[in-house]
Amino acid sequence: MYDLIRNYAINYAINMDLKDIYDNRSAILGGHINELRTVAGLATKNEMAIFALREKICHSCALKKGNTCNPRKWINSTTLEVSDTAKEGFVRGCGCRLSAKQKSKGSICPANFWGNEF
Ligand code: SF4
Repeated sequence: MYDLIRNYAINYAINMDLKDIYDNRSAILGGHINELRTVAGLATKNEMAIFALREKICHSCALKKGNTCNPRKWINSTTLEVSDTAKEGFVRGCGCRLSAKQKSKGSICPANFWGNEF
């Protein structure tokens, strides 16, 4: 179990800078634990429904790249326009490992497409 969490954390860290990891350490750990609880069938039905909805939203988002919220793209959450550079009214992809972030109860999509359900 510890190795699994450690490997998740290492993969996750590749896409985030150190300050992001430090600032979000509780949410990151909670997301990884809930991801494992879901795999083990320990998440409640309500939690699983919300995690599934978050997954669906990310799946249709232009910032999703593989299992990552692409930190090299910016999105306007109103128009859904995507940019390769920072612009007013656009938010940057967070660089998070999505399968864990979606299962972190305290996490919020940087574009505000999901979050605050709990
Ligand atoms: S976290 Fe938000 S911005 Fe990132 S891929 Fe998911 S829906 Fe898109």
